[in-house]
Amino acid sequence: MLNKSNIYYETLHPAYGQYFEVEHVLFEQKTEQWHLSIFENKHFGRVMALNGAIQTTEKDEFVYHEMMTHVPIIAHGDAKKVLIIGGGDGGMLRQVLKHKHVEQVTMVEIDANVVEMCKTYFPQHSQGAFDDDRVSLVIDDGMHFIEQCQQQFDVIISDCTDPIGPGEVLFSSAFYENCKRCLTEKGIFVAQNGVAFMQPEELQDTVRRLSPYVKDCWFYNAAVPTYIGGTMAFAWATDDVSARELDLTSLKQRFEKANISTQYYTPALHMASFALPAFVETAVKSA
Ligand code: SAM
Repeated sequence: MLNKSNIYYETLHPAYGQYFEVEHVLFEQKTEQWHLSIFENKHFGRVMALNGAIQTTEKDEFVYHEMMTHVPIIAHGDAKKVLIIGGGDGGMLRQVLKHKHVEQVTMVEIDANVVEMCKTYFPQHSQGAFDDDRVSLVIDDGMHFIEQCQQQFDVIISDCTDPIGPGEVLFSSAFYENCKRCLTEKGIFVAQNGVAFMQPEELQDTVRRLSPYVKDCWFYNAAVPTYIGGTMAFAWATDDVSARELDLTSLKQRFEKANISTQYYTPALHMASFALPAFVETAVKSA
């Protein structure tokens, strides 16, 4: 949290952390669900934290948002309906909408204040995405929404907070079971799953809870500088076992056809991101 000498200390991990020098505090208040802090840092630009955990920064958001959208959407090949759970800052929405074949995006965010504050202070994240005709924004708990949901989606993206507080339910068996029920036959579910080196138990919990519902449950990774302690793991779940076996030529063709600009995602990186470090593979296989 912000202290008197204008230093923001992240409090996510006990005994290890990162700090930011604060140029300006832009917003610091309790919202419906969170203690929401938004401030400016010389290196990372605008930074958002919820309950002491860094959520996003202007400078490195592209890594996380591109990898959680373009990997499943390009692997699917023809996603028309996409569901985002969480995603209040709008960064995920912006990337999903780059794909012309996407006809409908539903975003379910628990806290309307996060959306409103991010529209004000992080306009570069959403770049008008909330006003796109293809978007339906629902303010609800993602678990409540998915339990009631009677639609099916080609891609479901869980862009949630860590499994503490309101985000915890989005890592439960019941949530995964309902997401699977709401996926089309070749549908793909992805979820942020923490930093494997720092949160190995999160990874193993996900394997145990998610793998019973799909033919292929795996992880892919990317290095997001402000999610500290190593590479971030993204959960991957689908019945389409061929979806993560696409070769480089096919991925290049699909990326060219998509005709989107990226700062992190490349077809080669897409393919490589499914190769896990040995300690992560061991953790996954032994769960
Ligand atoms: N990638 C970030 C991280 O973990 O550092 C998370 C990004 S942030 C956009 C996550 C969003 O999930 C927040 O806006 C938060 O309000 C929302 N969220 C948390 N629990 C939720 C729930 N149960 N249902 C819907 N949205 C939720």
